[in-house]
Amino acid sequence: MESVNERHIAGAGTPESVWMESFTTRNVFQGTVVELLANSKTVHIIAPHPDDEILACGGIIQQLAQMKVSVQIVAVTDGEASHPGSCRWPASMLAAARRAEVKLATRMLAPQATRTRLQFADGGVSASENELTVTLSALLDKNDIVIVPWRLDGHPDHEAVGRAGCKASAIRGCRLFEVPIWGWHWASPNRREFPWHRVVSIALSPEERYRKEQAIRFFRTQTEPDPGTGRAAVLPRFALERFRRPFEVVFR
Ligand SMILES: [Zn+2]
Repeated sequence: MESVNERHIAGAGTPESVWMESFTTRNVFQGTVVELLANSKTVHIIAPHPDDEILACGGIIQQLAQMKVSVQIVAVTDGEASHPGSCRWPASMLAAARRAEVKLATRMLAPQATRTRLQFADGGVSASENELTVTLSALLDKNDIVIVPWRLDGHPDHEAVGRAGCKASAIRGCRLFEVPIWGWHWASPNRREFPWHRVVSIALSPEERYRKEQAIRFFRTQTEPDPGTGRAAVLPRFALERFRRPFEVVFR
């Protein structure tokens, strides 16, 4: 059994330069959104917190929106627990701010995307994993595409959403893809857990990359330090670098 500690998110994690070198030297499978879609008309992106969908899929959702594919974002939590003990960000204010941030970011990248808000407890998704599986199953139709965080992403909420999304997809006959988010932090190219054989790299155009970067700027609660506690940004510069690549990665 692997413990969460083996996927501990601490320090600065694996430097982006190490990932980039590995992507340039390995023979990584290059795919397209059209290939991922096959004949599906609907893509569900299941986001544990309001920003995960943009960090992992900000380029992919632009391509889907261009193709007039229905993009349905499922917001599992409102992200109200990212600033514990902060007098600047009490939970209810933080949840409202994060909902506003992700709304602006999504409007920039995929204006027609819909959002379903589930309001599970931020930080406590694994305790409600079965309920989440049932809720997600009800939102999916056969042959839809489902994108979830990697089941070994390291953050307990991400892993719980990954597992629940996987079960719900199997129940409903959907095709599932997983995306690493904090996985880029704890994993490294030579760790055996990193599934290179499942990697599909989706190229982004310079314009898509630029717009994704602009959209991420809306996440100020996550990219700025917290004056209420003196804590550093949840997404410091080294973490943001992983989402500025000229490609996005899904595991098939
Ligand atoms: Zn998250």
